[in-house]
Amino acid sequence: MHQFFLESSQIGKAYVTIIGSDVNHIRNVLRMKIGEKIRVSGSAGESYLCRIAEYGDNFVQADILSEELETELPSKIYLFQALPKGDRMEIVIEKAVELGVYEIIPMEMKYCVVKLDEKKAAARVRKWQAQAESAAKQSRRSIIPHIHEVVSYAEALKLANACDVRLVPYENEEGVEATRQAVRQICPGQSISVMIGPEGGFAPEEIAAARETMQSVSLGRRILRTDTAGMCLLSLLMLHLEQ
Ligand code: SAM
Repeated sequence: MHQFFLESSQIGKAYVTIIGSDVNHIRNVLRMKIGEKIRVSGSAGESYLCRIAEYGDNFVQADILSEELETELPSKIYLFQALPKGDRMEIVIEKAVELGVYEIIPMEMKYCVVKLDEKKAAARVRKWQAQAESAAKQSRRSIIPHIHEVVSYAEALKLANACDVRLVPYENEEGVEATRQAVRQICPGQSISVMIGPEGGFAPEEIAAARETMQSVSLGRRILRTDTAGMCLLSLLMLHLEQ
């Protein structure tokens, strides 16, 4: 079933009003007929099953049939992902969106192989945002997770420190019991930052700075790829938080 993301202001008591590029998409690309059903999500995370009722010149009106189950986690998870090689960021985005991430912040770190100039970085973020939207539709998210612009490590730390719970999976950390405890202690509603290093890992000064305000945790005795590590911790958080 096709899904559309609207501003909550476009959602009334009995019907929704779709405007903008989605109108052309519904009418001319999907060629949807009056009576066909669609899923609509609002910017506040609410979701509805709707039925197309009317085509206007520049709008589509769909009657609300029922409210849909909330698919968002009760906590906002911010994934700080070091820029990985190749197309691995695409994998990170797709899987993190499926697992309920709220925002992904790509970050430059000392051992990142990939270095992006401003223009390239902006183009990649636009592409990644489109990917996040596609993954959100596929996984029936009620919101489209935001892909932040690429930030420096110092900026990433500042943003990460604004969260209630701050976890940094570190390849040289030992003992998963501390990781279990850290996840178990999280209360629904708390914001969570997860910081993942690049293929080359954390530079000593980077992990030292992170440890001043974040808890470094082990994800087991094996070395996970940078695109696996975030998914591993996101899975643990999802299992703990899902209601
Ligand atoms: N170059 C590092 C090495 O060989 O030790 C490996 C870095 S790993 C490919 C990329 C990132 O994934 C790490 O910086 C860390 O954030 C995370 N990671 C990978 N394995 C982990 C583990 N067993 N425990 C905690 N974090 C891990």
